[in-house]
Amino acid sequence: MTGVDVRGLTIRGARELLDSKQLSSVELTDAYLTRVEEIEGEVNSFVTVTSEVASQQAVFADRLISLGEQGILTGIPMQLKDNFCTKGVLTTCSSRMLENFIPPYDSHVTERLKSLGAVMVGKGNLDEFAMGSSTENSAIKPTRNPWDLDRVPGGSSGGPAAAVAASQCIFSLGSDTGGSIRQPASFCGVVGMKPTYGLVSRYGLIAFASSLDQIGPLTTDVTDSALVLSQIAGYDRRDSTSLNVKIPDYSKSLEEGLDGFRIGVPREYFTEGIAPNVEKSIREAISILEGLGAKVSETSLPHSSFALAVYYIIAPSEASANLSRYDGVKYGHSDRNAETMWEGLERTRQDGFGPEVKRRIMLGTYALSSGYYDAYYLKAQKVRTLIRGEFEEAFKEFDVLAMPTSPSTAFNLGDKTDDPLQMYLNDIFTIPANIAGIPAISVPGGFVEGLPVGLQFMSGALQEQKLFQAAYAYEQATDWHTQTPSL
Ligand code: GLN
Repeated sequence: MTGVDVRGLTIRGARELLDSKQLSSVELTDAYLTRVEEIEGEVNSFVTVTSEVASQQAVFADRLISLGEQGILTGIPMQLKDNFCTKGVLTTCSSRMLENFIPPYDSHVTERLKSLGAVMVGKGNLDEFAMGSSTENSAIKPTRNPWDLDRVPGGSSGGPAAAVAASQCIFSLGSDTGGSIRQPASFCGVVGMKPTYGLVSRYGLIAFASSLDQIGPLTTDVTDSALVLSQIAGYDRRDSTSLNVKIPDYSKSLEEGLDGFRIGVPREYFTEGIAPNVEKSIREAISILEGLGAKVSETSLPHSSFALAVYYIIAPSEASANLSRYDGVKYGHSDRNAETMWEGLERTRQDGFGPEVKRRIMLGTYALSSGYYDAYYLKAQKVRTLIRGEFEEAFKEFDVLAMPTSPSTAFNLGDKTDDPLQMYLNDIFTIPANIAGIPAISVPGGFVEGLPVGLQFMSGALQEQKLFQAAYAYEQATDWHTQTPSL
């Protein structure tokens, strides 16, 4: 079979084609590589396209299929954000610091997907070291939004979100420290999910802020999201924060419906600053949920208002420590022309890091320095405890909380690059889930002037099933997720 139209194809759709032998994984992979080639010049969602690796993995997948040993992801073309280590394949983190870095090992999820027979078509673009909300901080190139090429795809997983929206792969994996999976998913009209902190091993994920980083899927719909999470979650001793819990098949409980399901709508997530038409879409989405039998009530999470401030102390502090390893000695960019070791170190970091990364390192170093530590870092940790407690209380009363993912739809490239604070404000509704360590998902929740809006759900720790249940019910009652950009 040739000339297969891959637009909007889901994992289940592809699975059927593969299992019924209508298509081999080699053919399916070729179809995606052709699509990538055709539109990549416009979208720029890849740092590296790995055609050769993909072709080899597709042959392996076809062998598994012919032996009847396939799993749900066998033969499925996918992408990994370029901050996941991939053995023998360039892993840049979209930074000059790592522009030539070829890891000698695979991250946990890379290894997992390989062994399941998934097919990696390439590595997705991101804001340098995952710091940003538009992918414009990538030192390689900015990615464009498939719905409107003059607009940003969001960030930092802008490459993965754009690639899934543009059907350049069936799913992608991203990392979410303050919203980096959900906000770009919302801007690109796809499903983006951040699991409970510790559910997916981060071994081999290039660290940004270790008490916040979490890995999750970007997919076309909620079922695919549940399927991918079921495959990548689970204990790994190489990540000391990995949770040793039983992983259910998240796709099994999707259809339980919303009868009597308790949904809280926190007032603080409808503040000034939210675009009126985004608010309108989300309010409409909430009434759809009510129509499906959910018990919806307004609630209040007053400490959520401090989450952004807390994040911009904790995340840069951890980043400043994590990024101290880039010293030009062990690996990565290195200035070898300096007279002294110190000068070499300074120049390496001067040239290797972009402006946003330097800003974060300076902020973090300042917040951690003696004399300021108590006033900033310690205080932020205390407020973090309050935010966490407030969510715990809320989930005694509600199964999930519903709110917008981002205060606006995708903005124009260049609109916010001169104003870091405006950029930071994009994540005001996503950051609280990272601060509290709880799972959250963004699903397509409508369109405003042709641009996707994201509806977000949060649930209590390890309550992913409830999250998927709510998201699935909403998705089935709407058709936003079936729409694809005209690329
Ligand atoms: N946009 C946020 C930041 O710049 C979140 C990034 C992320 O989740 N990796 O830090």
